[in-house]
Amino acid sequence: MNGYDEEALEKFRRSGKILRETREEIKHFVREGMPIIKICEKTEGLIREKGGKPAFPCNVSINEIAAHYTSPPNDDRKIPEKSIVKVDIGVHVDGYVTDTAITVCFNPEYVSLVEAAEHALKTAINNIHPGMHTSKLGAMIEKTIKSRGFKPVSNLTGHQVGRYLVHAGTSLPNVSHLSFSKIKLGEIYAIEPFVTLPNAVGKVENDKEVTIFRFLKHKSLKNPYAKQLLKHIEENFRTLPFAERWLRGAVPKEHYREAFRELLSSKALMGYPIFIEASRKPVAQAEHTVLIVKEGCVVLT
Ligand code: MN
Ligand code: MN
Repeated sequence: MNGYDEEALEKFRRSGKILRETREEIKHFVREGMPIIKICEKTEGLIREKGGKPAFPCNVSINEIAAHYTSPPNDDRKIPEKSIVKVDIGVHVDGYVTDTAITVCFNPEYVSLVEAAEHALKTAINNIHPGMHTSKLGAMIEKTIKSRGFKPVSNLTGHQVGRYLVHAGTSLPNVSHLSFSKIKLGEIYAIEPFVTLPNAVGKVENDKEVTIFRFLKHKSLKNPYAKQLLKHIEENFRTLPFAERWLRGAVPKEHYREAFRELLSSKALMGYPIFIEASRKPVAQAEHTVLIVKEGCVVLT
């Protein structure tokens, strides 16, 4: 995962620039009452217009939903009033992935929660350096969040990114933990503190709904449309996550449902369950992708 050449680094930088520009445009686009699918499609469209590809579907996770919600096809859900909305987006350029997230807050009560996530991210960025133990970084993030009167979500972590991989190699827990992993020069990490209220459980659990999927392995499939659909998925997204919205037109409409169902039941695909805070308390998130350099890190997003 370590030691990218200049050509790869240039692609990471391009990927990060596209993502940064997209995030800044989206920040002011999200509104209460807006259909979620409009945000997903707008974001993914901006990424493509700028010459990138979405590394995963635009995640729009509201209130106690911490991550992994994207609009299913024909989604009619809207941004609720007084909600806090995590918009988490990724780009790849020739497979090189960058990942960023912001929290848009429509509830004055939760402004300081959002600021705590942003502050924890900033502290991590200012302190991360080659040779640092991930446990030290986690403890630092936890301390920063607690000093503001909030709680980190303990089972969501930052992560290395790679080529056609969103979660690669070493994780970066947002809490103090037992690990001997060290951050190395030349590695690229997404740092992403998730913050919730002090009286929350501070963990996420899987919800029932699944809106994001990825290719897992080849399977012998009976249904020819399932075969065709899997081929389409592999060619277009490889091992990167995708949304069902992106499969439009891949097989005749009347065969789609059955084909997709077979891919799931045969485990050719896997789903990412929606993550919901265990005590249903609101969650804020902030995220950047950084390159580890001698002096510390360079923010790519
Ligand atoms: Mn992300
Ligand atoms: Mn991430």
